[in-house]
Amino acid sequence: MTKVLFLFLLLSPYLFGDGHIFVYHRFDDTRYPTTNTSTAELEREFFYLKKNGYKVVPLIDIVTKVKAKEKVPNNWVALTIDDGFKTFYTNGLPIFKKYNYPFTLFIAVEYTEKKYKDYVSWKQLKEIAKYGDVEFHSYGHGHFGQMSDAEIKTDMDKGLALMKKHLNYEPRLFVYPYGEYDARVEKVLEPYNFKAVFNQNIGAIHGECSDEYDLDRSALVGKAPFQLYLKFQELCGVTFQQPTVFPKDKIVKTVEVTLDDKTVTSADVFITNNGWTKVNVNNGKILWHANKKVKLNRIKIGVKVKSKIKLMVLSK
Ligand SMILES: [Zn+2]
Repeated sequence: MTKVLFLFLLLSPYLFGDGHIFVYHRFDDTRYPTTNTSTAELEREFFYLKKNGYKVVPLIDIVTKVKAKEKVPNNWVALTIDDGFKTFYTNGLPIFKKYNYPFTLFIAVEYTEKKYKDYVSWKQLKEIAKYGDVEFHSYGHGHFGQMSDAEIKTDMDKGLALMKKHLNYEPRLFVYPYGEYDARVEKVLEPYNFKAVFNQNIGAIHGECSDEYDLDRSALVGKAPFQLYLKFQELCGVTFQQPTVFPKDKIVKTVEVTLDDKTVTSADVFITNNGWTKVNVNNGKILWHANKKVKLNRIKIGVKVKSKIKLMVLSK
């Protein structure tokens, strides 16, 4: 009996991961396959979480653990939805209600305020807020990396004032539009005193080493490998040293990363458009002359050591 229990624990999937935060966008909207999740897939994911002992917690519970520098339980999952598409209200929400799963919806306020037809109304948001949290994703969903400090501030103030006006709520949590940010953008947002800020990088939340102003969320859109994402752990003690700015010629020449763990001898390095490449690690140091061409205006660089993963983003 003890042996069976031991085997069960050994094979139980949540023992392998940390806490995880996922992000959805649209539901059953086949016009946009790269940001869509079918409700059949959503049901499969929710059923998997339920069947395998995962606990879907409010996002703020993970934030509280991170701020206290405490380990996030391995079976904790938080679910978020970005932008405020109407299909969340019409197609997604009924399934969240069916499973009684908490969620956090991050809205780009302008879409709602100007009554764009694909987005939720203020009235629908009030209904949604009975079942989950509604938090902030900017006013105009701009590219903050390309906006001046003053433009970012104007955008933030406008959106926050409208949330206060319509929902009588002062958001505590923020998501960068397009997951784009850098040190300057982070500094502009500092005075807003958000409890936490989220990116859109594949990863996990360890808790003790996680940065509450840069928390990883894996996107469950298109054909995302949900069960694989659940197995990832956060790679703690990573310092990305090169590149630090978006390369103008769109060539990532050298990737330089330092790991606190000096016993690692091999890692996989990710560059957008180029997939993963195995590299050597010497005394905690990755120095890879990659010379890889990228096509997008937003590139991600990542490091993976076994199932431990950490990504960062550079925007044009
Ligand atoms: Zn967005």
